[in-house]
Amino acid sequence: EPVIKFFEGITDMTIQIVIMAMRLAPYGVFAIIASTLAQTQSTELLMALIPFSICVVVGLLVHVIGTNSLVLYFLAKRNPIDNFKKMKAVAITAFSTSSSGATMPFTMKTAEQELGVKKDVSSFVIPLGATINMDGTALFQGVSALFLANIYGIDLTIGGQLTVIVMAVMASIGTAAVPGVGIVILTMILVSVNIPPEGILFILPVNNLLDMCRTVVNVVGDMVCSIYINHGEEKVSK
Ligand code: ASP
Repeated sequence: EPVIKFFEGITDMTIQIVIMAMRLAPYGVFAIIASTLAQTQSTELLMALIPFSICVVVGLLVHVIGTNSLVLYFLAKRNPIDNFKKMKAVAITAFSTSSSGATMPFTMKTAEQELGVKKDVSSFVIPLGATINMDGTALFQGVSALFLANIYGIDLTIGGQLTVIVMAVMASIGTAAVPGVGIVILTMILVSVNIPPEGILFILPVNNLLDMCRTVVNVVGDMVCSIYINHGEEKVSK
């Protein structure tokens, strides 16, 4: 019991430190953006966030509709449009909570009751997916790394770009299913290709909105995976 109490104390303390840091973050971001704007004397950097965000959102849309439709149609032998309609309410919940973890109970219920996934499949695949399957986050991290490389004038070689791809997939696995963590883990990728990790501050102003969008992709990906695994299980048991 004393050991448990000790670690609970450390957890509470860590959470308090994170809360304090999160409260300070907006002022820090404001200060760093203000000083960069003053140094460069141009709003180009802020304006660059617009095409960056559009790029992330278009990438997410292409992936969530395109890749998942292909998996549903060819691998799971399902009608993608019908299935997407059934996922709509879960997608809206993911968008508004920015958390795959918070959406998880609803994701499981929808997979079982609307999408016809067996309980033993959904209760394994969905929680596992919510933790490690973060395709939206990986996409965001990849685009962000390239964007920041451009901002810092770092010319990434093909090797560097491959590192970004591999690291983005690994880092997204390590991202917790809660709001905003994807951008913190992004620092790991930046360090691996020698981009200054404080670069994430430039992305912070648009992070909330992009977090909402990428969480939808993460959650839809989990449901599509559960449908596919369920299809495989059905084939085996026939
Ligand atoms: N909010 C995301 C999720 O819960 C994780 C992230 O990319 O920050 O799926």
